Amino acid sequence: MNTHQRFRLILWLLLGLSIFASSTWAGVRQLDAAVLDKEPLALTPHVGLLEDPSRTLTLADVRSVEVAQRFRTEQVDSASFALGFTRSAYWFRLGIGNSSEQALTRLLVVDNPRISQVDAYLPDGQGSYRIWRTGADRPQTSKAYDNRNFVFPLHLPAHSQQMVYLRVESSIGLLVPLQLWSVEGFQAYEREDYMARAGYVGIAVAMILFNLMLFIALRERIYLLYVTFVLCAVCALTVKNGMAPDWMLFGIPLNSNVAYYSGASLALSGMLLFMRSMLQTASLLPRIDRGLLVLVALYLVSPLIYAAALPQVSRVAIVINLLTAFVMLGVALACALKRQRSAYFFLAAFGLLILGGATTSLRAMGILPTNAFTVDGLQIGSSLEMLLLAFALADRINVIRQEKLQAQTRLLQTQEQLVQSLQRSERELEERVAERTQELQVLNSRLETLSLTDALTGIANRRHFDEVLAKEWKRAQRAGESLALAVVDVDWFKAYNDHYGHLAGDSCLQQVAHTLAKTISRSSDLVARYGGEEFVFLAPATSLASAQDMAQTLVRSVAALALPHIRSPLGHISVSVGVTAMQADAELPLQTLVQRADTALYRAKAQGRNRVESG
Ligand code: GH3
Ligand code: MG
Ligand code: MG
Repeated sequence: MNTHQRFRLILWLLLGLSIFASSTWAGVRQLDAAVLDKEPLALTPHVGLLEDPSRTLTLADVRSVEVAQRFRTEQVDSASFALGFTRSAYWFRLGIGNSSEQALTRLLVVDNPRISQVDAYLPDGQGSYRIWRTGADRPQTSKAYDNRNFVFPLHLPAHSQQMVYLRVESSIGLLVPLQLWSVEGFQAYEREDYMARAGYVGIAVAMILFNLMLFIALRERIYLLYVTFVLCAVCALTVKNGMAPDWMLFGIPLNSNVAYYSGASLALSGMLLFMRSMLQTASLLPRIDRGLLVLVALYLVSPLIYAAALPQVSRVAIVINLLTAFVMLGVALACALKRQRSAYFFLAAFGLLILGGATTSLRAMGILPTNAFTVDGLQIGSSLEMLLLAFALADRINVIRQEKLQAQTRLLQTQEQLVQSLQRSERELEERVAERTQELQVLNSRLETLSLTDALTGIANRRHFDEVLAKEWKRAQRAGESLALAVVDVDWFKAYNDHYGHLAGDSCLQQVAHTLAKTISRSSDLVARYGGEEFVFLAPATSLASAQDMAQTLVRSVAALALPHIRSPLGHISVSVGVTAMQADAELPLQTLVQRADTALYRAKAQGRNRVESG
């Protein structure tokens, strides 16, 4: 080989080297792993990105001169590549060096456990590559480093340069946050990270157990719905976080993204059912309620759809989920406008969840800074939502208890009122009975008086006289006293009636009776109308002489009335009296007394009237 030939060879070698170098390092800013402290380094500005729509490129392909040129470095501020719902595979290329004197280990972290396939191509130090095939569609054991995310240890010898390749592909939205961590820094972060997730799961488990107990105690469906919702939500979130173990169904391994989407759907259907029950939409918004049931049915069948065609429907599913959130918000607002107490709680709880979700999204978009609140925003929002809803359920118990208490008080009041009104009516009844009794007594006594009194003259009647006579007769018998009886008869009275009329006759009889009562006024004596124009007086313990005197006084008093009687020979009203008095004798009947007085009267008439005769 001559010098010329040697020169040409060197030229070719240099050219080849430069082409190789340019193809290898094109568009890649070299990263020095030695300058990393405990904080993670976002790799977004340091990696080259290549889309592979056919999903067929191999490591050899992307390392080839032709393809290597197509890697692009995106000047993005965000900590992750948001690649959307794409069916393409993406290749990342990271040039990383170690300028220090000793070998270093760094961790390449893909902070999204939901990427279906994550293949890492790491230099093995012998000029070849070690391949890690992992991802959400693959079992947990496929991971290079045991973490919920995809973590790959990078071994960097002193003063070395190497090129790391990453290939990702997903059946759902593709978001690729890439970070470089020191081992110590990542371990510290892992502890905090797991604490936060465990805290969330702890709250959820507590809520599930508490409400399950409430369900068992109260037998109200709403608590079971809440438990279902929280259980599905926590399962979905655990899968989302990459913490769930590999699940199997009837011996078939479950795709974790299908499980995640299905869990979210079941949680949403649980939440919809819970909301229906809590806000009583069936009665408050009946037409919308039917729509909600259709949505629930759709969510219940969606796991089958996801199992069959998740890549094709994942974008639509996200849109539907988002719309469902708006629907729930709208329904809660409508119920709140109808002044539904539970709706306020629901709105507040839902608001917190949305706030949490929005915080996480805004952080992912780089609008909000990364901190404990923004990273775990969704989880914090979800915890607060669960707590607030549980609080609302507890508030329900309080409301139910108060309603029960009010009902009891009302019942008690009604009972009291009933008792009071019963007592009142009883009192009224007693009063009325007493009143009636008194009235009856008055009536009775009046009746008695009436039955014993002569209506025309107002003095005792015949019946009264008979009673008193029988009594006095017996008394006189017992006492052995004398009993006097006089029969008084108005003279020429028929003629008086005929001349003056019946009414005048009545008036005359009244005046005679009055005079009789006035004359025979001893309380022990009795004057009575015997019948027609005949009167009697009975004088107990009275001798015949005294009785005669009394009769004489009477005859004179009637005559002194000087009531004109033109048809009488005397010219005025007069009476004749037959008087008798006898020692009561047990042998003699009562009638004897009357008969003797009658006989005496007959004699008085016969002897010219206006006189007293005795017998
Ligand atoms: P004497 O002197 O013999 O007794 O003659 P007298 O007309 O009174 O005889 P008598 O006993 O036959 O007549 C009684 C009359 O009294 C008959 C009747 O018209 C009248 N009289 C009886 N009861 C009443 C009454 O309640 N009112 C009136 N106005 N008249 C009566
Ligand atoms: Mg007569
Ligand atoms: Mg007469």
